[in-house]
Amino acid sequence: MTRSANLGFPRVGLHRELKKAQESYWKGDIDAAALHAVAKDLRARHWKLQQDAGIEVIPSNDFAYYDHVLDTSILVGAIPPRFVDITDPDQLYFGMARGTAAAPAMEMTKWFDTNYHFIVPELHEGQTFALNAAKPLAHYNEAKALGIDTRPVIVGPVTFLSLAKAKDEGLDTLDLIDQLIPVYADLLRQLAAAGAQWVQIDEPVLVLDLSDKQKSAFKKAYAALGKAGPKLLLTTYFGALLDNTELAATLPVAGLHIDLVRAPEQLDAVLAALPGDKVLSVGVVDGRNIWRTNLDTAFGFVARAWDKLGPDRLEIAPSCSLLHSPVDLDGETNLDAELKSWLAFAKQKLNEIAALTLAQKQGRGAAKLAFDASAAAAAAHKASPRIHKAAVKARSAEAIKLDRISGFLARRDKQRARFNLPSYPTTTIGSFPQTKEVREARAAFKKGLLDATGYDAFLEKETENTIRIQEEIGLDVLVHGEFERNDMVEYFGEQLDGFAFTKNGWVQSYGSRCVKPPVIFGDVSRPSAMTVRWSAFAASLTDRPMKGMLTGPVTILQWSFVRVDQPRSETCRQIGLAIRDEVVDLEKAGIGIIQIDEPALREGLPLRQRDWDAYLRWAVDCFRLSASGVEDDTQIHTHMCYAEFNDIMPAIAEMDADVISIETSRSAMELLEAFRDFKYPNEIGPGVWDIHSPRVPDQADMEVLMHKAAEGIPADQLWVNPDCGLKTRGWPEVKASLVNLVNAAKALRA
Ligand SMILES: [Zn+2]
Repeated sequence: MTRSANLGFPRVGLHRELKKAQESYWKGDIDAAALHAVAKDLRARHWKLQQDAGIEVIPSNDFAYYDHVLDTSILVGAIPPRFVDITDPDQLYFGMARGTAAAPAMEMTKWFDTNYHFIVPELHEGQTFALNAAKPLAHYNEAKALGIDTRPVIVGPVTFLSLAKAKDEGLDTLDLIDQLIPVYADLLRQLAAAGAQWVQIDEPVLVLDLSDKQKSAFKKAYAALGKAGPKLLLTTYFGALLDNTELAATLPVAGLHIDLVRAPEQLDAVLAALPGDKVLSVGVVDGRNIWRTNLDTAFGFVARAWDKLGPDRLEIAPSCSLLHSPVDLDGETNLDAELKSWLAFAKQKLNEIAALTLAQKQGRGAAKLAFDASAAAAAAHKASPRIHKAAVKARSAEAIKLDRISGFLARRDKQRARFNLPSYPTTTIGSFPQTKEVREARAAFKKGLLDATGYDAFLEKETENTIRIQEEIGLDVLVHGEFERNDMVEYFGEQLDGFAFTKNGWVQSYGSRCVKPPVIFGDVSRPSAMTVRWSAFAASLTDRPMKGMLTGPVTILQWSFVRVDQPRSETCRQIGLAIRDEVVDLEKAGIGIIQIDEPALREGLPLRQRDWDAYLRWAVDCFRLSASGVEDDTQIHTHMCYAEFNDIMPAIAEMDADVISIETSRSAMELLEAFRDFKYPNEIGPGVWDIHSPRVPDQADMEVLMHKAAEGIPADQLWVNPDCGLKTRGWPEVKASLVNLVNAAKALRA
């Protein structure tokens, strides 16, 4: 019979219980046993929730304390040499993720085109693997003890090797497939021995442009793994299989999962290619967005697959793991009923899957209530006047010049005359520590325990204090610290029309860090200035240049749940216009340096290269739209982090920011090679302090990094700064690190 299935559930808990326990453990407030107990409780609760929703195939091993790719490194024994002496498994695990006093953390990068970050596996020449199956086995048995026979989830070997980084020159990680296959085969045998009938093996690289080597690695791996024991569901998501359809459909496994939300057009090709004995799992409920599924549309796909395959070869599932969805819409008491009726979180998505499965098994009448409610919500959504605003659409349709008044060199001269900064100018990326006091004051203000005047006075005091600290340390371009901001996207979304906010719509970003993406449901506009009050106040307290801080349109788009009833490019343009107005208002208020952060520009890149140009065109244009309304002597900065920029350098240059600061320290300045090789024309601040690690960098280390940068980039183009905002760090390490940073800049000038 057709089965309802899930591919993965959010880990952190409705109230971010996991985050809180982890952070307490890291601080030493609770021990490992207490952390494990919280995690075990969450797993039990989530398995039960899925069971109660009517899901027949429930995953295990989708839980990870920090990241499932890090878990895979542990699973196959790929421990970087600098960590091998750590014997305690928890210390080893979190040490690899976060770094230790003796060893820097492993690199982190985005999981495909999501805002989830994974820990990049590190592989060496002569790499060996050794199975450590403790976690998948324990979690499988844990669920079984609760009466739930789960389908364990693992990251497949080709995806693992494809995402891994070769730490030795000349090593191609895919060459390690022969060593890796026996480890996976052993794992599958052990899972089968424990009772697992099926294993979900995620190979999302199948939706990318694959090399011949990757293709042959797939054939080799699955020839062995297909007969290792349990039935395998080969899972693909985030895109279409396209030219990999034949490969994916014919690998010797028992089932294939495809994403029909991102790539509905691939159904017919997959149905045609699928051999007669295979199960197809159709991902028809969006695992990555929060819109309610149109059950009629989704059922159309189910029916087409059923026509071809019959009932015994069909599974109905979300498009991908629900990891990227918030947990439960029910508790969202701040959203009005109309808006709520358009949404679905993980729990509601599971109900949709159950309703579709029921309708397939017993006819649509059996799920009439769910289908009727879905149809009513879809009709109401389409007709709602809250979504379409004629004035916004009209302005967006106007032609607006995207170029600055003059070219970069002419602007640079005017900016140098205006600001008179030393060589190797120092600055920070914007935010300063969001301490317990800052969070408590915000919470008290939100709860009404602190009035607006009191909160404002608190923020003024924090801002002034931060300015004095920056002056004392000797930074050249100051920031106000962003104490009034909760989140770099939410803060803007809250002040823009067309956005809505959830109370508990948390989604994991990396490790214990969660974000609460705004919901962009309607046309976007800016009713009034958003940041001028705090930037102008901060500027009034100091003679040094104050940098205004904004989040760019592409990043606001990328880190929100975006409406699907118009192209993303159109929504982004509307946001770009709102940011443009803010930039102009900051300039009018005397703020001469304005940073428009675009850390998410790279992650918005389509997964297939053939789609890149179209995306980069509109994304770069939206940035330029936001930045081009100012005079030449206003200096526009941008900031980007955690991405490979090498392949999009021309687009970054086309953004034409006067200064770009980039994350580089964690990947040892490799990114700078790209800037050097490309001869990046404008100014660059390579991050010399990895702020995601609690380690205070030495002055000497930072000098070494800057010397390395200066080898290829003219010194008069270089800035010195941390690699990201400082909101997650504590004041003592921030002060110590910035003192070292300023001293490094002084040494460089000398
Ligand atoms: Zn950053």
